Amino acid sequence: MSLNHITQSALKDQSLPGRLETLKNLEEANLLTQVKEWGVFIFFEFKGEPLNWMKCKNCKEFLNAARGGHRTRHSKNRCTATKTKPTEEPDFTDVYLKYCLKSGKSFEQVASKEFQELIRDILEKVHPTWDVESLQLPTKEELESALLLRTGGQLLSE
Ligand SMILES: [Zn+2]
Repeated sequence: MSLNHITQSALKDQSLPGRLETLKNLEEANLLTQVKEWGVFIFFEFKGEPLNWMKCKNCKEFLNAARGGHRTRHSKNRCTATKTKPTEEPDFTDVYLKYCLKSGKSFEQVASKEFQELIRDILEKVHPTWDVESLQLPTKEELESALLLRTGGQLLSE
């Protein structure tokens, strides 16, 4: 679909990654008219109508412009521009292995969505500026191979 033929309802029907890509292309092609700024957000017009998506000046992300929690939620939690990555990506494999061996919890349990969320929540409390969502936490498979490396594969023969 050529950029000139895109309508707002077509945009709405696109999946999120596709829509973000299209919005970016529309902006680069100068098809979005900037109408106002509100805090860190830029609002646009598209084909003479207010665009349903606004752009964050800090992280350049497009998000829903509808009134509601989006704006505060984005500024407070979601905006990647205010988050930093740790200088070195921490490796939690040993911590997880130790916990599993001591507690008898399975790799599956500690690699579960709920457990990983707990770890991210704790990390966020300790390091509020870290982009905890993008931190790599060990998967079940990584824990299994890490254990095999440490035991020299002895467990395989058991
Ligand atoms: Zn942002």
